[in-house]
Amino acid sequence: MSTEHQSFQAEVRQLLDIVIHSLYTDKEIFTRELVSNASDALEKLKVIQLTENEIYQAEQELQIEISSDETARTLTIADRGIGMTREELVQNLGTIAHSGTKAFLQNLQEKGTQGAGMIGQFGVGFYSVFMVAESVEVFTHSWRADAPSLKWTSDGREGYEIEEVEAQDRGAKIVIHLKEEHAEFAKESRIKELLTKYSNFVAFPILLNGERVNKVEALWLKAKSEVTAEEYEEFYRFTAKAWDKPRYTMHFTADVPLDIHALIFLPEENQERFGFGQTQPGVALYCKRVLIDPQPNGLLPEWLRFVRGVIDSADLPLNISRESMQDSALVKKLGQVVTKRLLKFLEKQAIDDATAYRSFYESFSRYLKEGIVSSHEHRDSLSGLLRFQTSMMEAGELSSFDDYISRMKDGQKEIYYLMGASREVIEGGPYLEAFKARGLEVAYFMESVDEFVFDSLNEFKDKKLVRADQADIELDDTVNEGTALSEDDTSSLCDWWKETMGSGVSDVASGKRLVGSPVVALVPEDSPNAQMRAMMKAMGQEAPEVKPMLEINPRHALIKRLAALRTENPEVAALVAQQLVDQSLLAAGLVEHPQQLATRMNEILEKVL
Ligand code: ADP
Ligand code: MG
Repeated sequence: MSTEHQSFQAEVRQLLDIVIHSLYTDKEIFTRELVSNASDALEKLKVIQLTENEIYQAEQELQIEISSDETARTLTIADRGIGMTREELVQNLGTIAHSGTKAFLQNLQEKGTQGAGMIGQFGVGFYSVFMVAESVEVFTHSWRADAPSLKWTSDGREGYEIEEVEAQDRGAKIVIHLKEEHAEFAKESRIKELLTKYSNFVAFPILLNGERVNKVEALWLKAKSEVTAEEYEEFYRFTAKAWDKPRYTMHFTADVPLDIHALIFLPEENQERFGFGQTQPGVALYCKRVLIDPQPNGLLPEWLRFVRGVIDSADLPLNISRESMQDSALVKKLGQVVTKRLLKFLEKQAIDDATAYRSFYESFSRYLKEGIVSSHEHRDSLSGLLRFQTSMMEAGELSSFDDYISRMKDGQKEIYYLMGASREVIEGGPYLEAFKARGLEVAYFMESVDEFVFDSLNEFKDKKLVRADQADIELDDTVNEGTALSEDDTSSLCDWWKETMGSGVSDVASGKRLVGSPVVALVPEDSPNAQMRAMMKAMGQEAPEVKPMLEINPRHALIKRLAALRTENPEVAALVAQQLVDQSLLAAGLVEHPQQLATRMNEILEKVL
């Protein structure tokens, strides 16, 4: 029987180097990683059992056997799962295919050694064993009867060896030869402590030196009153493979329209914010305690991919396959019911503890917004969960649409909003003053996704959502305005102005929305606004030329003066008209070449001084 020497893939060596030399103190996490791999392998075997009738040692118990030997300084973790073929050994324990691990490495590279603490936060799977091991042997036999019995050996440095060995049981047996300084992990009491801490909810029996240690409880089937906060927390960590605490825990039971036992967790941390790429869905689907799919794709909508937990329904056919799941109307219904419940739950949390909800919102609002764009049926409840600053609230305070509506003036029918990069940008812009002067509140939206949100969201509880920089808003007269140009003078000024500007503007008209400014540039409804243009630019697209519609303020001294200047000095008047347009575009964030403004200003100054 031949021994095959192989080198680790470069990334694996790099990872191992970090793992082995990291100063990270929680070396104990390797037990959880290995036990969870054992549990995954057993889970996979169960799935294979549904379709394959020829399985090596089919009668073996699906369990995890752990033994410790203080004298030999070894710890052995054996499972009766799917095991590995030679190719699988090379693929799984010699290369990094796992996207989470790759992202981990990348993150470490960016953060330098500071990032080493993240091992504990994310886990690095199998390789974490080398934090404590001098060498590791993996004895394995695949579930395929014709596969060989193999031994994989490595000291976690350059590479590994694979050789064929005498007949092994199905599954994988990992023998860890502990470093002297980590001899503690060969102590039964220490391992027992770790198994209780990390692996209590593993769905297969775990035997330590022949004795059963884990509970195997379907927590979600119990009554709420029978479950303690610690148990929820432990279970969350187990099922989510997480290291943080659940931020919210929703445990509910229903029997109509479907039988449902659901235990849903919302994590503390938003993993996607760490740059780990898109999170995979993490709510497992069970039927009467039997796992159907640990990561079902079509169960909950994609924007709920950050949610963790378990949904168990006795109404599901037990033999439902993963393939048919996505199409199953029952599964869809199940997902819908749970999604609705979850949104209701969040609504209640927001009322009961606004501060906690705010903190949740700050980390996870993106997903809610994604939901508004993609899930029509949940749009109303999702938009009720949005929070935003407004013109009538102190900077930093947040409002909901319901709050906004409760503050609406008599006769106000619409909800007004503005988008901008920050509160300062929005308040420095030209659009707010008309609304302020009339006591109308304006909601502020400051994230680039909001652009897409409002593409999909046109109303909230029968109130139209109206962008305050849009051309066709009808505002009432205000009382505070002084003498204005006559109507005739105004309209002839507008005509002249439009002619002077040629094709640069779509229209010039007098309007009611200005108080302190002479002119405002309004973006026609069908044309991209400043944020949209910035986004198009960022994506390398050419934004179409802006053709603003100008609204002039016939009460403003500058406008009155311009009307007179038209006959006194047409040349300067034209320059001023042009300059005012560009300034209004600048205020609206729509100017591409600001240096032109300065050049023209010099020209004007030269002519008048
Ligand atoms: P992950 O579990 O996140 O995929 P790991 O580094 O923990 O990453 O494991 C790498 C791969 O090695 C697993 O995906 C699996 O294919 C294989 N593996 C690890 N442990 C076992 C085991 N006990 N039985 C069978 N395959 C295993
Ligand atoms: Mg793993």
